[in-house]
Amino acid sequence: MNQNWLGILIRHLALLVTACLLVGLATGHTGFCLAIGLGLYLAWTLKQLLRLHHWLKHHQPDEPPPEGTGLWGDVFDSIYLIQRRDQRARDRLQAVIDRVQESTAALRDGVIMLDTDGNLEWWNNAAETMLGLKTPQDAGQPITNLVRNPRFFEYYHAENYADPLEMPSPIQDRVRIQVMITRFGNNEHLLVVRDVTRIHQLEQMRKDFVANVSHELRTPLTVITGYLETLLDNSEGINPRWLRALQQMQSQGSRMQTLLNDLLLLAKLEATDYPSDNHPVAIEPLLKTIRSDALALSGERNHSITLESEGALYLKGSEPELRSAFSNLVFNAVKYTPDNGRILIRCWQDGQGAHMSVKDSGIGIETQHIPRLTERFYRVDSSRNSNTGGTGLGLAIVKHVLLRHRARMEISSVPGHGSTFTCHFAPAQVARKVRER
Ligand code: ADP
Repeated sequence: MNQNWLGILIRHLALLVTACLLVGLATGHTGFCLAIGLGLYLAWTLKQLLRLHHWLKHHQPDEPPPEGTGLWGDVFDSIYLIQRRDQRARDRLQAVIDRVQESTAALRDGVIMLDTDGNLEWWNNAAETMLGLKTPQDAGQPITNLVRNPRFFEYYHAENYADPLEMPSPIQDRVRIQVMITRFGNNEHLLVVRDVTRIHQLEQMRKDFVANVSHELRTPLTVITGYLETLLDNSEGINPRWLRALQQMQSQGSRMQTLLNDLLLLAKLEATDYPSDNHPVAIEPLLKTIRSDALALSGERNHSITLESEGALYLKGSEPELRSAFSNLVFNAVKYTPDNGRILIRCWQDGQGAHMSVKDSGIGIETQHIPRLTERFYRVDSSRNSNTGGTGLGLAIVKHVLLRHRARMEISSVPGHGSTFTCHFAPAQVARKVRER
């Protein structure tokens, strides 16, 4: 193309110069004719340039470039071709965007795109129904101003989106939604909102069923164990053949009672997201009493149980729930550490919040079991459980208590050497020092 233009330019100039020379020779004013000819050519070129400049500055989106002849005609045609090609590419891209938007708008899940500052950029119809967003008023508004739920606020700002968040819909309390956030591009966020009301109802039915069965079983069991106790208190008149059977019945009965109590406690913990109390709980005295109970549980097994605490630590929450979680961890350490083993209970505070750990020199846990330990009734080795008399619900209770106290549990273990269970509490959960009464 360039060579063509150069050829045309040279040809044009050659023709012009020849014509001027001929006129110049005929009139006897060669120089003058040449100057006039080149001047006219320059003026025409400038005019075309001005037309192009004017078109570039003021043209409407679909307006073609001006018509032209010769070299400038070529330039205008080329611009026109590029313009057409761009237009076609733009149309194609727009069609793709329209299609993606159409299909996303038709999704039953809510989709919301947020900009880098967390302001609403785009959302579909389902997001409007589930979160009550309004088009176009809410465009550019911060999402946390529109979805006013403390748990959502916390989840959004924690920036840890590994697990989805479940909460009631801001416009309909009976609708349960699940929010998943994905980061993309330059710290922009994509929110996907699902209606999980049905799953939530089924889950609720399961919880209610377990709670009701546990509750209903408790009364007959209390009667049975009560009679067994009375019988065993007057064992003189009992046939010795039956004595051992009665003793076993009593021990299994009390195991069942512990199991029902744990199931009821779990049901209670699952019923709400936060503990009813939010008082500062003094952790050091709590751990001291747990340590004494653990020493009593250890008895003749002679464990060395040490408590290390760095100053007074207070956590917001429920004392009975924290006691239950911490004692489960400490009693497990006693149960799963051979005689004369060492157990270290620690609590400390730093920039990341408060921490409590229980380290033992026990049997340890193989890595593949660790992620499943907090599941109900999960046991590393079922035969182990019958020796220790555990219910298999201890760590599930710990997990729920921690969730309700904005804490998480970390488990590290080396089989044969011991395990460490650490509870990490968020800084917001640490209560300011209160004067001891
Ligand atoms: P259990 O009533 O069986 O102790 P938990 O939920 O408290 O139930 O614990 C689940 C399982 O995790 C236990 O059965 C045991 O196998 C394992 N486990 C818990 N704590 C420890 C520990 N300190 N050392 C080794 N294994 C442990």
